[in-house]
Amino acid sequence: MHLPMNEIRMVDLNSQYLKIKTKIDLAITDVIEKSEFINGSQVKVFQKQLEDYLNVKHVIPCGNGTDALQIALMALGLKAGDEVITSNFTFIATLEVIALLGLKPILVDVDSDTFNISVEGIKKAITPKTKAIIPVHLFGQCANMDEILTIAADANLAVIEDAAQAFGAKYQLNNSFAHAGTMGDIGCTSFFPSKNLGCYGDGGAMFTNNDELAQKIRSISNHGMKVRYCHDNVGVNSRLDTIQAAVLGVKLKYLDDYNLARQKAAEFYDNAFSGCHKIITPARNPKSTHIFHQYTLIINGKDRDELKNQLQTKGIPAMVYYPVALHAQKAYQYLGYRDGNFPVTEQLCKSVISLPMHTELDVEQLNYITKAVLEFI
Ligand SMILES: *Cc1c(COP(=O)(O)O)cnc(C)c1O
Repeated sequence: MHLPMNEIRMVDLNSQYLKIKTKIDLAITDVIEKSEFINGSQVKVFQKQLEDYLNVKHVIPCGNGTDALQIALMALGLKAGDEVITSNFTFIATLEVIALLGLKPILVDVDSDTFNISVEGIKKAITPKTKAIIPVHLFGQCANMDEILTIAADANLAVIEDAAQAFGAKYQLNNSFAHAGTMGDIGCTSFFPSKNLGCYGDGGAMFTNNDELAQKIRSISNHGMKVRYCHDNVGVNSRLDTIQAAVLGVKLKYLDDYNLARQKAAEFYDNAFSGCHKIITPARNPKSTHIFHQYTLIINGKDRDELKNQLQTKGIPAMVYYPVALHAQKAYQYLGYRDGNFPVTEQLCKSVISLPMHTELDVEQLNYITKAVLEFI
């Protein structure tokens, strides 16, 4: 009997869980039995595991990736009106925290091949008020960090990496490889379930090699406190739950295998679409590994939305990351940008589509997906 193909999902967290169920269940039960729900021992253990994995001096876990970005910016001690440069083609969180803190977001266009922030664009955007750059390692590969770090050093700017989509990616920096999130002053990541290293709820972390920043970040995430009930800074409450730390402690051991599975699926897609001039497959930055948080195509000369609908009718989910540039969002009209200011981002918003990408895709599913895409094209 021919078994029906497994249902295709954009992300398949359930199948992934079933393969490691015994270990996960045990780790969660252990937390519940000890009832150390906040700052339990597993949080500290996971923090150490991450420091080793990333080869970074300090990991500070927190509540989610957005908090990580916010706390990182707070730790820089910027003043209202200071300018922070970031990409116009990213998830809203990157921009949101800059705005929330009363800083001035300066949006920059991206490179059309890698979707990452344009180095030339950064150079043009720097003013005497610029204090920081937040490069986003979009879809799983690093932005041009060597050039960005050089620009930042020359202009005395802080660099906060948004590594939420690239946890586990590596970048070639000065003859060695550094993990995404460990190259700038502070790196931020998210453990949202669908991220490459995801927990079973919300979670996030910050990374730094700078002792002073680490201390500030720890204090800010804990109500601005160093000594209990003495509040030196205005802080927030942002912690990684013990249960989430326990889940992450198990899953971290599988992360490199998970990323490998994503790379294999990406390779399958690449091969299937090579030679089709209406589909542009994702370009690789030669200095970065790509761990395919998303596998994102540019569709040329065909309607991207029609493709999405067509796939849907065949039981294939596909998503558009991102359909609207940040400068065009209603909440950010006050920044005063206009359509036409970001030609690359604006074109990408009309033409990109992300195909199912996760650790559990099998050849049968990949065949079915690629055939359906090519049929439409
Ligand atoms: C997911 C994500 C975030 C935010 O992470 P949360 O944990 O959902 O708050 C920030 N930046 C980027 C680029 C992301 O993809």
